[in-house]
Amino acid sequence: MTQTASLPTKTTCPYCGVGCGVLAALEPDGSVSIKGDPEHPANFGRLCSKGSALAETVGLEERLLYPEIGGRRAGWDEVLDLVAQNFAAAVAEHGPDSVAFYVSGQLLTEDYYVANKLMKGFIGSANIDTNSRLCMASSVAGHRRAFGSDTVPGTYEDLELADLVVLTGSNLAWCHPVLYQRLAAAKEKRPEMKVVLVDPRRTMTADIADLHLAIAPDGDVALFAGLLRYLAEKEVLQEGYIEKHTTGFNQALAAAGQLTVDEVAASTGLQPAEIETFYQLFAEHERTVTVYSQGVNQSAAGTDKVNAILNCHLATGRIGRPGMGPFSVTGQPNAMGGREVGGLANMLAAHMDLENGLHRNLVQHFWRAPRMAEKPGLKAVDMFEAVADGRIKALWIMATNPADSLPDADAVEAALKTCPFVVVSDIASETDTLRHAHVKLPSTGWGEKDGTVTNSERRISRQRAFLPAPGEARPDWWQIVEVAKRMGFAQAFAYSSPVEVFREHAGLSAHENNGARDFDIGAYAGITAPEYAALPSFQWPAPAGDARVHPPAVIPEAAAKRRLSGTHSETWRSHGTGPGSREQSSLGRDDDGRETGMPRPELRRVEGNSIRFFAAGNFYTPDRRARFLPVAPRPRAVTDAAFPFTLNTGRVRDHWHTMTRTAKSPRLSGHMAEPYAELHPADAARFGIGEAELVRVESSHGAVLVRALVSPRQRQGSVFVPMHWTDQFSARGRVDALVPPITDPHSGQPASKNVAVRLTRF
Ligand code: SF4
Repeated sequence: MTQTASLPTKTTCPYCGVGCGVLAALEPDGSVSIKGDPEHPANFGRLCSKGSALAETVGLEERLLYPEIGGRRAGWDEVLDLVAQNFAAAVAEHGPDSVAFYVSGQLLTEDYYVANKLMKGFIGSANIDTNSRLCMASSVAGHRRAFGSDTVPGTYEDLELADLVVLTGSNLAWCHPVLYQRLAAAKEKRPEMKVVLVDPRRTMTADIADLHLAIAPDGDVALFAGLLRYLAEKEVLQEGYIEKHTTGFNQALAAAGQLTVDEVAASTGLQPAEIETFYQLFAEHERTVTVYSQGVNQSAAGTDKVNAILNCHLATGRIGRPGMGPFSVTGQPNAMGGREVGGLANMLAAHMDLENGLHRNLVQHFWRAPRMAEKPGLKAVDMFEAVADGRIKALWIMATNPADSLPDADAVEAALKTCPFVVVSDIASETDTLRHAHVKLPSTGWGEKDGTVTNSERRISRQRAFLPAPGEARPDWWQIVEVAKRMGFAQAFAYSSPVEVFREHAGLSAHENNGARDFDIGAYAGITAPEYAALPSFQWPAPAGDARVHPPAVIPEAAAKRRLSGTHSETWRSHGTGPGSREQSSLGRDDDGRETGMPRPELRRVEGNSIRFFAAGNFYTPDRRARFLPVAPRPRAVTDAAFPFTLNTGRVRDHWHTMTRTAKSPRLSGHMAEPYAELHPADAARFGIGEAELVRVESSHGAVLVRALVSPRQRQGSVFVPMHWTDQFSARGRVDALVPPITDPHSGQPASKNVAVRLTRF
């Protein structure tokens, strides 16, 4: 009998925060085929090199397939009992803060939700933090300071609609390739669109830039504070918007008040003329989007950088309107989902605030939690310092490899060696972190697990399984639930499938909400298993009564088909006012495009049997106004005579994190075969370093030995080393061993882009 290929499964790519839709199929010969999903609104069929090589990474070689205790194979019951006993014993003897979870933006939202619930509501500590702390915590803190909520206002479509796109601290071409492709295509169609790149390196993203500002590391606050002053001088402020929707403008302007263009030039290493050109472009183009990523976030001043950018958009009213807005793009596939369920040590579920007593009570009541955390827990870097000094007695690491990816990686590895009880859930059989695990739990990986993820434009999409779970691998949510049951919380963790977790997550987002909080997907609180199975992607908010979210049975068949096929691609903006914003939006439309006679769904909330309307453009601060933050550059001496270079770490195009998946693909490994130090030709000449020669890059915390890549794309005085290689994949390429544990005071995000190093020819 001839076997036919299975119908493709609609899922999403597990790599970056663009969150592309993927069609994956298991072929009759057992191979996997991958295509971009033409109907997914993030990518409309496009995939980058990593996404299109997914089939090459699903093999079972180097997979962890069975639970292990101390290196021997064990049964699930035995390991789960042991994990529960050790966590319970540590809590009983040393208190709830003696245990910790270190989780990951690779987890699905349902995994994240139950981990957060167990730690914050039942163990009674907030010691759960995530590797997303290394990725976008400064954006979270900046959003919350300005908007009173962690809301990304815009959508991907805004990059295509803008007349000016400013990319700052973002190598979009390599780190968010499909979004870059969308931007490049829009610019090709409308060559008058301007693109400005602000980056110390002339990355591949510069290929579409009209202006590249090779800014000195951490010069961003000066650049954007200077821009605010310039906008005020040129009288291009939206005074009506500032007056009606914001507070603190005068203080922000006063903080930026002394920054002339010459002073900005001195702080940024840029020429006054190029700064003027950028400022003029910003002043002249109302439709401006500012995209920012790790170059902004991974800094000791990351939160101030974010607020310096937000200040300029608030001052011009360019937010939440088509083609306008500040836009944080996240590194990981589900950093946003983690934020939504409280995966950060200082947040609660559903974007609620751990330090807000009302929020704590609300969540405790909803969960019927016996022991709520009452104070923020340890952020990533602090957590591993607590492991090192013995405060943490039991640690569970899920889907991440901190022995390579955290700053001061050698110290992190040393801390793991001394921790009395380390559990690691992973798909890989060998990582530098797994070496120190007392218990290894095999997790299902991409293609084998079910759940949801949220991408950078607030779009929630399903990840769906199309492969069987290999060996005895189990989903992360299941592992957490089974441990919770064994710790005595069976009733609160009686989930048997991800849809039950999602339903509760959606219900909590709407619980006593009524427009008081930004994250609300209450429309899905009653979702059935078949609806979850067929769920098309959607953007939040989706409050109860949202016209987009009728159960499929009650909407016309044609519309249902469109919804279920994922073609319902209307985009939603937050915080907008003025022309083109939600406040000005006309009547809502049903799924057939007919006007409903009602305001658009995001302008109303259902309360009992009545509908309350609210004004779009509101923020989630007590007075519903956005806050300007008075930010000014805080010069930080980094280099000195002993360490005269600044090190910048980051991604390459074809690898992901610590390469446990992408290294399986020869095609991906062929792009950059080994780690390297990219340095300017003048610096190479000064130190007598030739192309491809071995060079030792050394900081006060560690050293790597890598080949030199001599390139005029690099800024003089700076060196770039990619972050992916570990001791497992290269003799000495583990760059996070060089990064000191310096963090932003507001976000706790490490400063991985500006580290003092010296170079020596080997
Ligand atoms: Fe995957 Fe990101 Fe590439 Fe899309 S752009 S295919 S999400 S890695």
